[in-house]
Amino acid sequence: MSDKPVSAGPAGYATIADVERAAARLKGVAHRTPVLTSRTANALAGASFYFKAENLQRTGAFKFRGAYNAIAALDAAQRKGGVVTYSSGNHAQAIACAGGLLGVPVTVVMPHDAPAIKVAATRGYGGEVVSYDRFSESREAIGETLARERGLTLIPPYDHDDVLAGQGTATLELLEEVGPLDRLYVCLGGGGLLAGGLLAAGRLAPDCAVIGVEPEAGNDGQQSLRKGEVVTIPVPHTIADGAMTPYLGARTFPIIRERVHDIVTVSDAALVAAMRFFAQRMKLIVEPTGCLAAAAAFAAGDEITGKRVGVILSGGNVDLTRFAALIGAD
Ligand SMILES: *Cc1c(COP(=O)(O)O)cnc(C)c1O
Repeated sequence: MSDKPVSAGPAGYATIADVERAAARLKGVAHRTPVLTSRTANALAGASFYFKAENLQRTGAFKFRGAYNAIAALDAAQRKGGVVTYSSGNHAQAIACAGGLLGVPVTVVMPHDAPAIKVAATRGYGGEVVSYDRFSESREAIGETLARERGLTLIPPYDHDDVLAGQGTATLELLEEVGPLDRLYVCLGGGGLLAGGLLAAGRLAPDCAVIGVEPEAGNDGQQSLRKGEVVTIPVPHTIADGAMTPYLGARTFPIIRERVHDIVTVSDAALVAAMRFFAQRMKLIVEPTGCLAAAAAFAAGDEITGKRVGVILSGGNVDLTRFAALIGAD
């Protein structure tokens, strides 16, 4: 390790100071979500789990944190002009909700196959929805064109310093509440939640091994970490619709590369087993993507025996019919 302070992170990227600024902006606006425990889970694994329930966050996922922080950081002219984003759903709802709270008009580029509940919620918050085909069109290009033509400010779902700093407040709160952990499992799509969480852990729990978790069908993060540069893969087909990202962000990857302990993958079947566990044992609805971190922690075996293990449950937005179909099929 260099002689930099442990919390510094790579030069030129977001820092713990950005996460702390985000925490101040979010105070009294975002829910301070509960940290839940389960004697059953602890007994099964021989470890002490601390589940940060971001499925109970405003709009049903941690994405509210980054979205609100990024819009709150805009100047008056940018706010008046409005914002645009692209998202598989949760970021869209978060931006629409945050825009509504801050009086900023919102346009959202969404895949036409996004879960209906997410599209409806985005419209319900007052967002204008523009659809695209996620397997053939580039959402980035559509978002950028709309930004240019309509004078909107683009707020991407993860590759943005204020977004990732906002996401980091989930880990900040978890560590403030339960103290240092031995391990922390965080799901990984484009890397906003993980990068922000690494900054918070670097300050509050420098010895904590933070593990990123992605779907088996799309291990671009794992490949990128091994290679030392961002690797792009075809859009993965997985039930974890919030982690169908084909590459990590240019703003998130350097932080992840420097600080993450490891990146692991889990199967869709393991996600379903975790969804069932949370519904049955903890009375929680957690969406498939929201179970990534837990599924990896539950599969960690000896690695976590006797350890204090944090798990971020990232979201709970899933159509009830889909939820029933997933947990009902044995
Ligand atoms: C967006 C999202 C993720 C992935 O977050 P990134 O910041 O893109 O890594 C994980 N879980 C849920 C529920 C999400 O909405």
